[in-house]
Order: sequence, then C-alpha cells, then structure tokens
Amino acid sequence: MMTETVSIVKYTSSPESLKKSIELCDGFKSLRPSDHVMIKPNLVAWDDQFPITPFGVYTTTRLVEDLIICLKDFGCSNITIGEGSVQIKKNMGTFAAFEGLGYKTLEKKYGITLVDFNKSKAEEFPYHGDNKLFIAKEAIENDFFINFPVLKTHGQTKVSLGLKNLKGCLKLKSRRHCHKPESGLEFAFSHIADFIKPSLTIIDGIYALEKGALHFGNAYRKDVIIASQDILAADLVGAQSIGYAGKDINHFKYFAKRHDRSLTINDDDIKGEKINDHIQPLKWDWTWTKDNTGPGIFEKLGVTGVALPKYDDTLCSGCSPIANMTSILALSAFKGQPLANVEILNGKKMQARPGYDKTVLLGNCMIKANRNNKNIKKAVLATGCPPSENDVVAAMTSAGLDVNILAYYGFMKQQSEKYNGKKGYDKEFFTVK
Ligand code: SF4
Repeated sequence: MMTETVSIVKYTSSPESLKKSIELCDGFKSLRPSDHVMIKPNLVAWDDQFPITPFGVYTTTRLVEDLIICLKDFGCSNITIGEGSVQIKKNMGTFAAFEGLGYKTLEKKYGITLVDFNKSKAEEFPYHGDNKLFIAKEAIENDFFINFPVLKTHGQTKVSLGLKNLKGCLKLKSRRHCHKPESGLEFAFSHIADFIKPSLTIIDGIYALEKGALHFGNAYRKDVIIASQDILAADLVGAQSIGYAGKDINHFKYFAKRHDRSLTINDDDIKGEKINDHIQPLKWDWTWTKDNTGPGIFEKLGVTGVALPKYDDTLCSGCSPIANMTSILALSAFKGQPLANVEILNGKKMQARPGYDKTVLLGNCMIKANRNNKNIKKAVLATGCPPSENDVVAAMTSAGLDVNILAYYGFMKQQSEKYNGKKGYDKEFFTVK
C-alpha cells in the first residue's frame, strides 16, 4: 500500500542526509534484504567533446553511493543500476556516462551490477488503444525499483522529475514513439510509471537546473533531498520547490487523472523541512521572438532574415543538440546585415511558412513532414536520424548562411567551463573515492 508521505531533508552530510530522507518517508517499508533492487539515476547523455557540466543534469554520484550504503546496511546485496542514456555522439552511450561519473568504481567497490537499458531485451506494454511502450526488461524484472531523478526544469515538459526520469527505461523506438505528434509527449510517457511502479522515488536536489537540459541550463546549489514511496507525491513537492503547481504540469495531470489522484499535497503529508523554506522558482524556457523567428537573443542583437521557429515537443533527444547548434550557427553568420531569407525547421511536425527563398529541413522526420509543402520554394535537406553536425553546417551554408563552426565550438567550450572555480560547484559530487 502506497503512502503519500513526502520527506524533505536538507543535505548536510553523506550518507546521513539521504538515510534520514528515506526514514522520514518510510522508504524501505516494503523492502526485503533478499530483494533485487534496481536504481535508476538520471544520466541523460554523455559528451566527451564538450563535457556536459554535471550540476543539476546528472544524479550526483555521491547520493547514489549513499543509497548503496543505505541498501547494504539494510542487508541488500543484489543491487543493479540501470540507465539508457541518449547517444548524442558516436560511442558515447550509457557506459560512457557510467565511466565518466564514477559508476565503474562503484561497481568494484560495492559489487553492484551496471546495466545499459539501450542494450536490454524489451517487454511490450499496450496503452491507450493500439499504442505500445517497449520497456527494458531489467526495469520491470526486479523486486524494488528506486527512481532517482534530479531536480530540474525541461524545455519541453517544464519539469523533469520522477515521472519523466522513467523515460530512460524505454527502448529507443518507444522514445521516438513518445515524440510523435499523434502520441503527445507528456501523455505518452506519463504511462511508464503504470508499468514500472517505482517503490521509492528520491529527487536529488543538491543542485537544481533552470532552463534544462544538457549543456545550456543554469544550475543552482539547493542542497535538498525529496523522497516518497509515491512517485506523483514526490514530483508534486519537487515541482513546488522550483515554483510549479501540479496543475501547471501536463504529465502530472495525465497521470493523476488516470489514477484518480489529487494534484495538491497536504502540508501534513510532508515530513522534515517545511516546503516554504525551500521554494526557489526556476524558469523552464528560453524566450523566443514574437513572430517565432528565433530565440530572444536574435531580437536583442537585431538578427533578421533567417527564421528558426521554436522547437516543439516532437523534437526528440537525437535532434535536440542540433536545434541548439543551428541557433548558434545562425548567430555566427550575423555581421550586422540581414541574413539570407531562410527558414530552418526541426522536429516532426513543423510546416514551412510562405515567404522564404530557401527552407532548411533538418532530419528525416522534417523532410518527410514537408514533402508536399507548397510554401517551399527551394528545400535544402540535412538527411539523417539525427543528421550529422557536418551535414547541418553544409545545409546552412548551401542555404546562403556564412556559418562558422568554430563559433559553435567556442560557445560549447564556454558552456563546459562555466562553473569552473565557482564556489559551491564541486565536481567531487560526481566522483567516487
Ligand atoms: S530525425 Fe530527429 S526528430 Fe526524427 S526521429 Fe530522428 S532524431 Fe528524432
């Protein structure tokens, strides 16, 4: 029987703070020492070329180690950590993230097992009519699933907490299914928790991320841990702590409606710290020009000519780095004069608007979606799923934009180094001694 108790604990030391958060929500109530425990952190993607700053992006390795210690103290010895990181660069999959964040050391130190859900066999789960989700077998076949997301915002779903973290248990074809216009991203992934049913959700709020995800967000030190046996209750409190009410978040609403649940949390259900002492509103989105021709910075700098409509929720993780890249590349082409009259489209459902000399279609989905679009005078294609960096540069150049890839590399390097030397941003949280 689930309880909706949620604990809020200030992080002060390891492993005591995490231990307290689990005790306050009775998080190990249904755990038995003989159980096979699966821990699902958030190791969203790995980039060796421009390292993603880990703060607010990845579950801290420190808290994952603390959790292993708590489980071992309880008598558990069969512990697996599973994740399916998005591969944004060749050979940079889940095990690159495991390696980079110290999990290989955890494996040796504690005798745990690491699993790449991308390589797992799948189990099929029908939902809502003819739809299906394919979930990694190991995410289903365990006795006690611990969902371990980060406290962060997200450019498509506003927040990315417990419900969203489970998307990393899907096989690639199902992740893409979630981003199909007819599926509806938040509606689709809100079903995963119906099949996985986490026994415990712990939100790692040592850092919280604004305008997530990956390289571009702003991380804040927050030092809070939120935990509950109930995934929705944990998410509601997590969201509230960064300024969002349950009714603001569509995937909460879908989940709550199916399970006949309320979207409000009773203060009496919160144990430990008071929620009001930990609220720090964080923005989830970048501003865009009024006529939807580019990020707000275009207006500020007077960039005209080129049009980059705002990405939508059909843009899947494979193409999302490319969407950001095109904005930086367009800026690199700007020398104070109007740019070529070009529209650049991404995702799966954008439609070319009239009035542009050329239309750059990024990725196979966009090419297919605009195959018969009569507004296009001349299409420039970047094929691929996702298209390569070189093909994107080539397409933009061929559309008449004098882009400079070095400007993009410089920007990415700056993003990778933005917290260097800053107080409170301690990379030791992502290493194992
Ligand atoms: S082309 Fe891009 S948006 Fe389409 S499925 Fe591939 S990665 Fe996703």
